[in-house]
This record gives sequence, C-alpha cells and structure tokens, in this order.
Amino acid sequence: MSAPLLPGGTIGILGGGQLGRMSAIAARRMGYKVKTFDPSSSACAAMVADSHTTAAWDDAKALKKFADGCGRLTLEFENIPPATVTQVNAIAPCHPSAEVLAICQNRRREKEFLKAQGIPCANFVVVSSHEELSAAVKKIGVPCVLKTADFGYDGKGQAKITDADTNLENVWEKIGDGVGVLEAWVPFQLEISVIVARTEDGKTAVYDPAENIHRNHILHLSLSPARISEATRREAQELALKIAEKIKLVGLMAVEMFVQDGRIIVNELAPRPHNSGHQTFDANQTSQFEQHVRAVCGLPLGGTQILKPSVMLNLLGDLWRNGQTPDWAMILKEPAAKLHLYDKGQASAGRKMGHITITADTLEDALKKAEALFVALSK
Ligand code: AMP
Repeated sequence: MSAPLLPGGTIGILGGGQLGRMSAIAARRMGYKVKTFDPSSSACAAMVADSHTTAAWDDAKALKKFADGCGRLTLEFENIPPATVTQVNAIAPCHPSAEVLAICQNRRREKEFLKAQGIPCANFVVVSSHEELSAAVKKIGVPCVLKTADFGYDGKGQAKITDADTNLENVWEKIGDGVGVLEAWVPFQLEISVIVARTEDGKTAVYDPAENIHRNHILHLSLSPARISEATRREAQELALKIAEKIKLVGLMAVEMFVQDGRIIVNELAPRPHNSGHQTFDANQTSQFEQHVRAVCGLPLGGTQILKPSVMLNLLGDLWRNGQTPDWAMILKEPAAKLHLYDKGQASAGRKMGHITITADTLEDALKKAEALFVALSK
C-alpha cells in the first residue's frame, strides 16, 4: 500500500472535462497541485489546473512527462484506453485501476461482472451479428434494448426494440459495432444512483441515493434524497458498497439503478464523479469531488450526510438561444440557487455547460424552484 498523498502534493487527472474541473477545484481548495491531460488544449479542467498537457491518449512520451512529479493519478472520463492508465500507473499510483476501467467502459464486461457477483441487473445476451440478435430477441422478448458494448453514454449507441417483427438487420446495421448487448427493457418507476468511495485500505463511504430525471436521454434533474422507501435506500447503498468491494475500487464510483416495484436493478457503473452527484458540492457534508480526491490520495473519507434537501438542474447548451447567454441574474437572485459554469466556450444542443443546485427545507420546495427556474430560462 502506498503512503497517503498529503495536501501540497500533486494530483494528475486524465481527462479535462467538467468532472475533472470540479475535482481539480476541490483538490486545490485542499492545497493540492493539479495537472491535467487531455487531447484538447481547450479542456475546461485545464483552466483551473496548475499545468495542462495536450496530447493523444497513446502519446507515451507526453504521458511520462505528465505523470512525472505526480504523487497520485486519477481519471474523470471513462473512455480512456486502459493501456494509458497502465503506463502512468508505473510512475505513480493511478486510481481507479486499468482493470476497473476496462470493466466499466465496456457493457459486456460490466454486465458479465455484475451477473457473476450476483448483482441484480436486466437479463441480457451478448450478440455479434444480426442473426445472433434475432435469436436473442426471441430469447429475451420485447420490449428490449440493443446497446453497443463500447463507448455508450447518455442513451447514445442504443436502440429500443418494441416489436418482434422489427427488421433486426436494420437495427444491427445502425447500432451493431462488432459486439452488442441485448437487454430486457425494465419498466421502472424511478432511476436512482448511488455514489460510493473506497480507499486502498478498504475504507468506504456511501452517499444517499439521488433520484434522476432525464430529458432526451440526458440527465435533467437530480433530486437528493431520492423519493424511495427506507428499505430501498438501504438496499441501494448496500449494493453500491458490494460492487465497490467486489470490483476492488479505489476512488469514486457512481452506480446507476432502476427501481421497479421496490426492487433494484443495476444499470451502469461509472468509476468517477457523476453528474447525479453535483449537488453534493452545495448540499452534503463532503462533495463527491472532495471525496474523489480523498479516496485517490488515501486520506480519511469525509462524511456524506445530506445537510439540506437539494435539486440539481443541468444547464445544457440548448438554453443558449441564438448564441445568447442565459439570464444569470435571474438565477442568482434566488438566494438558495448556486450557479456552476464550466467555462466550456461554445454552447451546442445537449452540451453540458453548467448546473444549478437549489437547496430548500424540503425536497418539494427545491423541486418547485428548480422547475420554475427551468421554465423561466427556457423562455
Ligand atoms: P444507459 O446509457 O445504459 O445509462 O441508458 C440510458 C438511459 O436509457 C437510462 O438512463 C434509462 O432511462 C434508459 N434505459 C437503458 N437501459 C434500459 C433498460 N434495460 N430498460 C429501461 N430503460 C433503459
């Protein structure tokens, strides 16, 4: 086991998006130095880092230069080649590991891992041709959903099959990318996610489940705490802890789940901070970003307690109408609203540009305010 990396040390973050940016802000607040690495020179995490490397994921020379001087390395983006993590890990400990990353970035490996551990997930069949897809649809039944094994997120690389007579050759052509996973459709009532952190010495911390509401397959609102029973809350947290232990996580992970008739079905794992945990910055004892830093550096984990019910509203590029910046004053005059902008430059439809957290004495009040703000911003 490595000695903890104490404040004053340097953390290297692979990936330069908003998750890296907010992790870097948390790290700098604690007195760490931060280096970022991303193929883009305008990565928004770079703006808050001490230094930034712009290079390809397989640029061995640039990776070495980046990792040299770092006491710990981590990542904020799932589609990094595991070989990149292996390379930098030879210079300083990188959490999560290449093994954890390889499982979480591929739906086939992820599903097979969950099934092997006895974690409840939707029935699935791995398919690699349209003939196999036809056989799988017969086995699983409709409705079902075909997902690409690699590089899927926010509903991308997915096709729902609702009719047994669908032309599956067309579906395969559109989605089929070598290997796919055909999954039974889960008629869930709620989507929730649980964030869990684990250190190298096996200490864990788990957050209350957040309830996630999507629009056009992208997270729209995240409610904390989720509107679920105490038994479901406990089960969701226990499942997240079990997954973190079984996968030997070091770092932070979000576990996305469906709730159907009080039962939990695990959908996806993300071994990094998650959009549904952004409200922890303003509404919990320790933010997911600080917890990420603590877990990766081997520090004691912070308390996860909810200080106030909250709702996180994503600010997508769609709100920048005709290139016009939204009316920030309208948000800021709401005393309980906290504005987070990622300094990403050009807004485009579906692009995550920032978020707002609204806290209130009750979740209902926070939700009402968030919905009203969204309506006003959308006008
Ligand atoms: P994913 O990329 O797997 O997180 O899927 C994106 C969204 O599609 C999820 O948040 C769900 O709303 C929906 N979805 C994915 N898989 C299923 C499923 N098996 N049953 C029902 N809805 C699903």
